[in-house]
Amino acid sequence: MLPFIRSDLDDIRAYKAHPGSTNSAPVTSTIDRLDTNENPYDLPSDIRQKLAWTYQEILENNRYPDGTHEHLKAAIAKYVSESAATNITTDNISVGNGSDEIIRSILIATCAGKEGTVLVANPTFSMYAVLAQALGIPVVTVERSLVDFSLDIAAANKAIAQTTNPPIRVVFVVHPNSPTGNALTSQELSWLRSLPEHILVVVDEAYFEFSQNTVLGELSKRPNWIVLRTFSKAFRLAAHRVGYAIGHIDAIAALEKIRLPYNIPSFSLAAALIVLQNRQQLLNVVPQILDEKAKLTQALTQQPELQFWESAANFIFVRLNPSFGLAEEQLSHIHAQLMSNGTLVRYVSGGLRITVGSPQENHRTIERLQTALKNYR
Ligand SMILES: *Cc1c(COP(=O)(O)O)cnc(C)c1O
Repeated sequence: MLPFIRSDLDDIRAYKAHPGSTNSAPVTSTIDRLDTNENPYDLPSDIRQKLAWTYQEILENNRYPDGTHEHLKAAIAKYVSESAATNITTDNISVGNGSDEIIRSILIATCAGKEGTVLVANPTFSMYAVLAQALGIPVVTVERSLVDFSLDIAAANKAIAQTTNPPIRVVFVVHPNSPTGNALTSQELSWLRSLPEHILVVVDEAYFEFSQNTVLGELSKRPNWIVLRTFSKAFRLAAHRVGYAIGHIDAIAALEKIRLPYNIPSFSLAAALIVLQNRQQLLNVVPQILDEKAKLTQALTQQPELQFWESAANFIFVRLNPSFGLAEEQLSHIHAQLMSNGTLVRYVSGGLRITVGSPQENHRTIERLQTALKNYR
């Protein structure tokens, strides 16, 4: 390590981005990319045309983007107010360069400078811990049940009671969780409600448009809760990097202080606005994707070597069925074989997280899984 680099960065591995994204050439379209939970469908051509028109006629390349995000925030406020009987205004919203940026801003606003520790329940979205570590923020983890991935509330309470230097300031949960697909249970929700107001609860609803699970309705009662949403998944805008936080105006004001002044490029702002204006058309593939998830789940029941869980999102988590006596490292072979046959899934937390793709992709997923499992029959 170079002598001017912080020594604790030695322990941090860079986030492994999409295999194709480090090459200058795009990932070949012959690979089924089912490892990052995107919507399998690109924007339809009429909306691409609107975007192209915006680029041609409106966008000023030589000018900084709108650093206030006011138009987009107004559109977001309108959209999120549809999903909850609550009055969310632009003062309750902060927009980030992906929700990843907001996660980082939350960490800076709460825990940086040795003021706080983060609590997560594993397995869960890896970026909370990755971003915390990059900021030198300690992370305490509790485990989830091997049976249903519910979080160990007793262990979490114990961790909160025993972590003092610095104390736990933020709890991150995903609703529904990634990579496991389970939504928060009523017990977990009661536990989150019971947390004291000096602990921030971040409920990451990245998959809301698939699951319809949301805690937005009770946000006005809970100044220590923040909800995260993104345009990267159901809204088909992963390339544009737009996510947002919804919360108490004072919490949002703190996030606004921390974000970079022009954090969202003009074209991404325009894209997010356009997809919100056309949300009915764009979200009409969601029922189709859920239908495909049901078919994929059904097909997995025919693979006795695999254990899988009902998912409230657009992906399915599978592990090896312990009663088949296959060693966990076999899963990495299966993962590699899927990849060499053209299906990319995510190997994480001792399982495979498989994104629901197009009908053709899902068909190939099952076919290739069968092929890979044949070696063990
Ligand atoms: C995909 C995902 C996000 C979205 O990240 P962006 O930075 O907005 O693309 C956030 N949280 C979870 C749990 C996710 O799976």
